[in-house]
Amino acid sequence: MPSTVEDTASCALCRRHLLVGEPARLYQDPQSKRFAKVCPLCYERADRRGWRAEGRPIVAVHANPPSDHLLRERESLIDRLRGQLQSVEFDLDRVRSALAKAEQQAAELRGIKRELKDLQGEVRKHEREVRSLQDEKRRAEERAAQAEAAHKSEIARHHSVAAALDERAAEMAKVAQVQGQLEQELESQRARYVELAEARRKESDARHVRRLALEAFNRSEHIERVVAIARSLGDPIVNVRCDGLELPRPVKITVMWDISWYEYVVRLDLLEHTVTVEETRRGDDPRELPAAQLEPNGVLRADRIVLAMQAYGVGQSAASGR
Ligand SMILES: [Zn+2]
Repeated sequence: MPSTVEDTASCALCRRHLLVGEPARLYQDPQSKRFAKVCPLCYERADRRGWRAEGRPIVAVHANPPSDHLLRERESLIDRLRGQLQSVEFDLDRVRSALAKAEQQAAELRGIKRELKDLQGEVRKHEREVRSLQDEKRRAEERAAQAEAAHKSEIARHHSVAAALDERAAEMAKVAQVQGQLEQELESQRARYVELAEARRKESDARHVRRLALEAFNRSEHIERVVAIARSLGDPIVNVRCDGLELPRPVKITVMWDISWYEYVVRLDLLEHTVTVEETRRGDDPRELPAAQLEPNGVLRADRIVLAMQAYGVGQSAASGR
């Protein structure tokens, strides 16, 4: 129990006995929560101390001397009750502060719950990130596998291209070989053409020689016998051929019927411009002669032997020759 108001009739600050009818006032010290009775002379001191005035001034009603014991007891009871009230208020303050503390703790608990909730949200967010990272990793692995496959197919393509290039090179080599063969063939064709041209020139020369030989033969006496025999046996087969390249140039003239043949040799010296015609052989059956000598290339026309058209050369070029 507080003992603040033990001496109910004295001032708490100046300790002076309160006079009868003097209006004392009840103050409370906010720190100690104690109540104190203060005389009117000490109001300002109490105010300066920060005490709080409780209610209106109390007029001390006790008698001096305290003859009225009942009144003193009542006043004492009031003081005790005030002390109890003060104690209750003190307890109430503690309860209030406990309540405030509890509320604060509840608020803290709510804050913690919010933080926990936030943390759970954070955890879920992290889990989502982990899942997305796993997805990303899986996609990256798929891309890597695709890139690997693409790389392999690229390598295969390079190999096939290289093989195609090799094949191409082989073809080129083959083509070059064929080209070489063709060039060789062309070269041999050129050589053959040169040979043909040379032969043509010689042939042309030979034709000229044969014509000269026939002109000599037609001027000789031997033509008269040929013409005579032809009157009875018909036109003969005539073969005129150069018989060598020596000088004078020998030209062999063979005149054949079914049952007889004559062979003459005309020798021409083109340099000396001399000519001789002589009969070299005769016979009955022309089949005893070599086949080349049986080929007809001259005809008896009226009283002279001329070269047949086919004797003028080879193929169409005969027209351009003489
Ligand atoms: Zn006082």
